Amino acid sequence: MVGDTIFTKIIRRELPADIVYEDADTVAFLDIHPNNPGHTLVIPRKPFRNIFDVDDDTLAAVWRTVRKVARAVRDATDAEGLNIDTNNEAVAGQIIFHFHVHIIPRFPHDGYQRWKGKSYTDSAAAAHVAERIRQALE
Ligand code: AMP
Repeated sequence: MVGDTIFTKIIRRELPADIVYEDADTVAFLDIHPNNPGHTLVIPRKPFRNIFDVDDDTLAAVWRTVRKVARAVRDATDAEGLNIDTNNEAVAGQIIFHFHVHIIPRFPHDGYQRWKGKSYTDSAAAAHVAERIRQALE
């Protein structure tokens, strides 16, 4: 687990936030720099750093809240869909090191862009990395 961040201060009400939902394990509030209006963050009350250290029970609680809040964000904003993202470590864009899930409402032609996929050089390259992952899972 990590120490104090902006998010622990939001949980303790030491910093203002537009909290939309909370329960015993999780809190959801508006992102201060939304990709689209209604962009919401879901966090566990316990300050895990990210996906690599969050415990199973907390992870389950976060994802239960994500689905509950996702439906509400969709309905409240009339979004046609949502992106649900989590950035893990700085290289992946994580800037607040308290595990969180982004719920981003999406509208046609809203300009939000995802990274275009690359190709494997050949099927052997894909098979090689798949085998490395299988081994890492053992
Ligand atoms: P990430 O890049 O995944 O670590 O995302 C952190 C998110 O936290 C960013 O989208 C920020 O806009 C958001 N953020 C930072 N400070 C605050 C704050 N005080 N209240 C709400 N959201 C915040």
